[in-house]
Amino acid sequence: MCSTLQSLWDSMVVGGGAAGLSAAMVLSRAGRHVLVIDAGSQRNRFAAHMHGVLGHDSRSPLDLVRAGREEVAAYGVRFLDGAVAKVGDGTDGVTVTTGTGQELRARTLIVATGITDVLPEAPGLADRWGVDVLHCPYCHGWEVRGQRIGVLATSPMSLHQVRMVRQWTDDLVYFAAAAGPLEPAVRQRLAARGIEVVDSPVTGIVVADDALTGVSTADGRTTAVSAIFTAAPLVGHDGHAVVLGPRR
Ligand SMILES: Cc1cc2nc3c(=O)[nH]c(=O)nc-3n(C[C@H](O)[C@H](O)[C@H](O)COP(=O)(O)OP(=O)(O)OC[C@H]3O[C@@H](n4cnc5c(N)ncnc54)[C@H](O)[C@@H]3O)c2cc1C
Repeated sequence: MCSTLQSLWDSMVVGGGAAGLSAAMVLSRAGRHVLVIDAGSQRNRFAAHMHGVLGHDSRSPLDLVRAGREEVAAYGVRFLDGAVAKVGDGTDGVTVTTGTGQELRARTLIVATGITDVLPEAPGLADRWGVDVLHCPYCHGWEVRGQRIGVLATSPMSLHQVRMVRQWTDDLVYFAAAAGPLEPAVRQRLAARGIEVVDSPVTGIVVADDALTGVSTADGRTTAVSAIFTAAPLVGHDGHAVVLGPRR
């Protein structure tokens, strides 16, 4: 937490996840006075382990951010915990207003505020996000490889996710209803790859002993699966900076 906030920072970084901290690291090593303002809700905070990041495999995402903060703090980067509510234009840079009404000024601004996954509205699903309800097989596919896995459609693009996840298991169920009716040719292709299709809309998930065991559907059935992949629509957190528009 920053105690004395200087009047004009060289650079302010909004968002202190991996992207914002990396930017802060490079800028501070270039001799810039940098303030990172972070609301502390990194996208992958729901997962206990992260993968596919060389040198950090299986590390807790929160631990990575903690270590990153320590590294950049050593170069003099300062931190303010909280959310930026508004960004305004000024003659010599930008003015940032925090959620508590604090005003800060900087010559340059980096917006690294990440995104939110807007999960399908199935009861219980959000509670399992990052545990056994997953989005990216490259991040978490290895841990559930070979298991009976479901893909929950969110749009016609979910067929792409089906094709990807099929590489991690030959026991795949596609819950197709949310993407609209399947073309017969598509259905045939899925069948040719041994992919089961459930057409009835998803109504919830089933959990036992703190593990996902199935997906329930409107036809009253429960289909057993031990993990789900779903491509949730993504919403950016950059609304506060929209007023600036793109800059050169
Ligand atoms: C469940 C899950 C598991 C994942 N697992 C992996 C994995 O294993 N391997 C991998 O490579 N990737 C993984 N990812 C992807 C990874 O989370 C993202 O690529 C990464 O977090 C992006 O970093 P970022 O810094 O851009 O955003 P974030 O990490 O989301 O950080 C953005 C920061 O900005 C802050 N912020 C937002 N708005 C404001 C505001 N107005 N003011 C101040 N601060 C603000 C947020 O609170 C947050 O701290 C996973 C994603 C999810 C959802």
